[in-house]
Amino acid sequence: MASWDCIVIGSGNAGCCAAFSAAESGCDKGARCPFWARQQTNSSDKFSLSMSCPREWAGGNGYYTAGAYRTVHSGLQDLLPIVNNVSKEQAESIDMDEYSHEDFLGDIMRVGEGKPDPVLASAVVNASRETIAWLADRVGIPFMLSFHRQAYAVGARQTFWGGLVLCTEDGGKGLIAAHLRAIEKAGVEVWYNCPAVEITMEDGAVNGVVVEKDGERVHLRAAAVVLAAGGFEANPAMREEKLGPGWGRAIVSRAHLTTDMSLLFVPCRGDADAPTEAGDRVLTNQFTKSGYPLGIMVNSAGKRFVDEGEDYRNYTYAKFGKAILKQPGGFAFQIWDSKVIGSLRVEEYGDGIVKKIHADSIEELAEKLTERGLEDKEELVRVVHEYNQAVKQHEGENPDKTWNPAVKDGMSTKSLSLPKSNWALTIEEPPFMAVKVACGVTFTFGGVDLDPETAGVISDKTSKAIPGLYAAGEINYPGGSGLMAGAVFGRKAGRAAASIRETSTGLKQ
Ligand SMILES: Cc1cc2nc3c(=O)[nH]c(=O)nc-3n(C[C@H](O)[C@H](O)[C@H](O)COP(=O)(O)OP(=O)(O)OC[C@H]3O[C@@H](n4cnc5c(N)ncnc54)[C@H](O)[C@@H]3O)c2cc1C
Repeated sequence: MASWDCIVIGSGNAGCCAAFSAAESGCDKGARCPFWARQQTNSSDKFSLSMSCPREWAGGNGYYTAGAYRTVHSGLQDLLPIVNNVSKEQAESIDMDEYSHEDFLGDIMRVGEGKPDPVLASAVVNASRETIAWLADRVGIPFMLSFHRQAYAVGARQTFWGGLVLCTEDGGKGLIAAHLRAIEKAGVEVWYNCPAVEITMEDGAVNGVVVEKDGERVHLRAAAVVLAAGGFEANPAMREEKLGPGWGRAIVSRAHLTTDMSLLFVPCRGDADAPTEAGDRVLTNQFTKSGYPLGIMVNSAGKRFVDEGEDYRNYTYAKFGKAILKQPGGFAFQIWDSKVIGSLRVEEYGDGIVKKIHADSIEELAEKLTERGLEDKEELVRVVHEYNQAVKQHEGENPDKTWNPAVKDGMSTKSLSLPKSNWALTIEEPPFMAVKVACGVTFTFGGVDLDPETAGVISDKTSKAIPGLYAAGEINYPGGSGLMAGAVFGRKAGRAAASIRETSTGLKQ
């Protein structure tokens, strides 16, 4: 029977980090590098990354991301050495505040409404900056400053907002390409089209997995197994069961996950015309529609239902996605006027990316939106009028305030029962534009409890780590922390999995 030192289940960001880390840790300890893992039986296998999907779907959700990585940092000078898109001259015109441990942890706990495990969240935050260095220097992930998504041009300066400043070159596609290159170079073997269906144990320790390969169940032995199989978001029935009624119709990015390791969720808003059950391998995260802080959102009854300016979009899109799902029909319209249409990201709102509805008056816009599901056009006209009045009232009372999308500018509509707390401008200068949006699932997270140091899976029965079993991946989500969490725990899991070989007398047979 074939044996490996470590088998990683899943080829997403977390799985790739775990596989690379395991291979690298073995090399560091003087084993044969890059093919360090001992060959127990009849093939030249080393580490193995098991995947349920075909090769063209490699990378899990990571492929669809913007490659946004949230990390603690001490400002521009700290990050300049690891990014590849900032010249010396450009650096002079960038404003970037530091993002401290307290900021990052505070954001996780605030956005998660106190539910995140503070120990695991701290482990992610504390290891974030060193993990970025590891990803850049050892794995070879190409990082950039995220000008398009995370900075606004304010006068002649680029001002970063919201703490999240790094992304990968060519987004998720670039991230996964770099990961696959790294693990291949490190000697990790990848098996496609072979879902892991069972974890096997012997004397209280994990000793392998059963996979389905070419229609057969095959038992593979391994000293350590890392679970990095993502969440259950691609399974509509499980979404209905675990997340509640209505979640079956949420839009997901890809179609290959059916595991049930996770229990909580983070939704995000997306283009209502996006494919519903499988992602688009070209447009990937361009279905995201994150321009609502610049305008308003209304439901099919023509009513606003969230405070679009409550916080930076990275901190609100998860709960606003859920709010959209709860609206009649599960959709909403985002609306802007000519003052801000030019500030919407072309990646998300460009021609050919999304159906845009244009009009020269709000009345005409409302009329056109009835063809896309708006049921009360008079109410929409009234809501926009009332909103404009509230903007003007606030502007009149606060002549010192100026509109600035890079900070929470306090430009609000306080007099409304549902205010817009920041970035409130009137919607009255034609042409007007609207797009229809629905709720998409970014990922499901939660699930197994982990040792914060080793990423070992904690047993419900014994409250101790199960020997040989590790996990990494989805955890919690202010934008950009999904990838960070996967990298932190993936790296830890790989390191700990590799150390089993050091501490045991040999692979368990
Ligand atoms: C559109 C979009 C944009 C996003 N943008 C960002 C962003 O910019 N920054 C950020 O931090 N996060 C972002 N996220 C969230 C991010 O994608 C996830 O947090 C992250 O990719 C999860 O990685 P993972 O490795 O844990 O799981 P996944 O990427 O879900 O990978 C799991 C892998 O396991 C495989 N698998 C499942 N079951 C089995 C099995 N039984 N046997 C073998 N293999 C199996 C799957 O095929 C898959 O390859 C985004 C998500 C979406 C949908």
